[in-house]
Amino acid sequence: MTKQQPPVDGYCEQCGFNYDTGDLQGTVTLLVRQSAECSMALTKAAAGPDPNVVRLRPEPDVWSAIEYACHVRDVLEVQRLRIAQCLAEDRPVYAPMDRTGRVKQAKYEHQDPMEVAAALVGFAREFGAAARVLTPPQLGKLGLYNYPVRMPRTLGWVIRHTAHEIQHHKHDIVTILAKVEPPIVPKPKPEPVEGEAETEEVATEQLPT
Ligand SMILES: [Zn+2]
Repeated sequence: MTKQQPPVDGYCEQCGFNYDTGDLQGTVTLLVRQSAECSMALTKAAAGPDPNVVRLRPEPDVWSAIEYACHVRDVLEVQRLRIAQCLAEDRPVYAPMDRTGRVKQAKYEHQDPMEVAAALVGFAREFGAAARVLTPPQLGKLGLYNYPVRMPRTLGWVIRHTAHEIQHHKHDIVTILAKVEPPIVPKPKPEPVEGEAETEEVATEQLPT
């Protein structure tokens, strides 16, 4: 992805998430709700007139809706396992999730949107259940986190960062589907105008670049 990397602290201008506001319960509620919204956007598009829209990339280096949904599902699972690891270990070091490698290895593009949507909601509930019961001392516990730079992060940050991932990618999924759905219909071409110069101009604009 060539897009600007979203921030991991403070306010995200791309999706409106703020790391500095919201208590634990509110953050988890937001995460579960937005996971459900990711899931609904995907199933609605997949049940539409052209189910293939979920597999369309708006640009070659921007993921499709199904690829983002698979990523969100996997993030929710990986982050829940990281909560458990953080609680169980003295000095937790989280293994990288290999976000880009998974796209090809797990064949995101070919996954069933209904199954992905169901798993995404299920993993969000499981993540929520694991996160809601954390105590303030547990939320303050540090683990070595890889993204975007390797540094110690509190479990509280891991929860907020996961909520940001979901909100940010819900924004991505909705934006991408709006671009590719409904199927792109070419804009009506202007009526040919008298005069060679203008006709040529129109023809030039239609050449593939
Ligand atoms: Zn964001």
